[in-house]
Amino acid sequence: MVGIILRSVSASASDDPPDLASPLRIAVYPGSFDPITNGHVEIVERALHLFDRVIVAIGRHASKPGYFPIEERMELISASLMHLTHAPHQRPGRVVVAQFEGLVIRYAAAQGARAILRGLRGHGDVEPEFQMALANRDMVPTIETVFLVPRPAQQYVSSSLIREIAHHGGEFERYVPAAVAEAMHRRRARPV
Ligand code: ADP
Repeated sequence: MVGIILRSVSASASDDPPDLASPLRIAVYPGSFDPITNGHVEIVERALHLFDRVIVAIGRHASKPGYFPIEERMELISASLMHLTHAPHQRPGRVVVAQFEGLVIRYAAAQGARAILRGLRGHGDVEPEFQMALANRDMVPTIETVFLVPRPAQQYVSSSLIREIAHHGGEFERYVPAAVAEAMHRRRARPV
């Protein structure tokens, strides 16, 4: 796929090299992305105004298989962000899709990131995000947590809401990129 680097080999935190400050302004955007929604896409679009590279990184949890397998989630993220790397002036490597295991902050440090990127939808997000940001700052003080807020129209959009609407046969298509809508239809048609 042109422009998007897909890191299918996962980076495990324990194998990571020591913190290397990169001359590039790199942000790691961690999450489950199960699946990626228009809300996530908007956060990446905004972040590209601030950072040279955004690494969209799926956290792997052995105990949580998820709705879509990780490899499929990575493909869906790449397809959904393709428009951000197709413009002629865009350099390759502005968007990277990856997976990781272990602590986000250790993964971010190993990538030479300056920031961890998170989205804030409403005040329900604030308390847990604040706690995580404080813990991360305690572990690696040089990496900032940057919060971006979406347009009001995206504010209530979440992966779990999309899965719930799809499960009950509702119309979820307007909340997700086209590739995700197609994958959800295929997933729904599969026998359980
Ligand atoms: P997690 O399980 O880590 O919350 P998610 O994939 O649900 O993973 O979300 C990843 C990040 O994207 C979180 O910071 C979350 O707040 C943010 N996010 C999710 N949906 C939206 C949205 N509609 N608008 C803005 N940010 C969002």
